[in-house]
Amino acid sequence: MSLTEISSKIAAAEKAAGRPAGSVTLIAVSKVQPNARVEAVLEAGHRVFGENKVQEAAGKWPNFRETYDGIDLHLIGPLQSNKVRQAIQLCDAIHTLDRPKLAKAIARIADEEGRCPKLFIQINTGEEEQKAGVFPADADAFIAECHGLGLQIEGLMCIPPVDEEPSLHFALLAKIAARNDLQGLSMGMSADFEKAIALGATHVRVGSAIFGERVAS
Ligand SMILES: *Cc1c(COP(=O)(O)O)cnc(C)c1O
Repeated sequence: MSLTEISSKIAAAEKAAGRPAGSVTLIAVSKVQPNARVEAVLEAGHRVFGENKVQEAAGKWPNFRETYDGIDLHLIGPLQSNKVRQAIQLCDAIHTLDRPKLAKAIARIADEEGRCPKLFIQINTGEEEQKAGVFPADADAFIAECHGLGLQIEGLMCIPPVDEEPSLHFALLAKIAARNDLQGLSMGMSADFEKAIALGATHVRVGSAIFGERVAS
């Protein structure tokens, strides 16, 4: 699928859900994609991208920023505490705030750097052992803890279990956000972004549907 096709599917899903045009931000997930493919999407005028790893983002985005204005870079993969400074310097949003230690590090270092990316808290809606994220039952307390540290929280993010109906997880995420007065919902990937938009996604993270299958790294 092309960027244009994805964009028109997003527009159609917004309309079907009775939501304003442009209320969903498309994050083009460029992890492990060859630079030529990323450049083609930049040349097409798209500016919002997602990367999984700080290291990989550091290797390519400072260069792209020299050539293209207005890049909005989102970190959507796990963040280790020792990479927080680099992430804050590189990224405009972090979708994977998932533990108190990380929240404290972000609060301190954002203060030192004089800049704080937009923050999304990752919720482990499927309560999967191997997956990052705060359990739904702990979400309200963790959101309050982040606010207590002076962090402004943009919204919540989830990655549903692969073998379950994603809509149940999107609905749960939306419910947790609503009761905490959070507007942002980072949910939906290549296979299910339309379902996510129906349930209120404000940010969809789409990789392979735009760039083609990822080459194994
Ligand atoms: C890779 C990735 C995506 C994009 O997945 P696709 O299925 O290629 O659209 C979205 N979100 C996260 C957190 C990812 O790691």
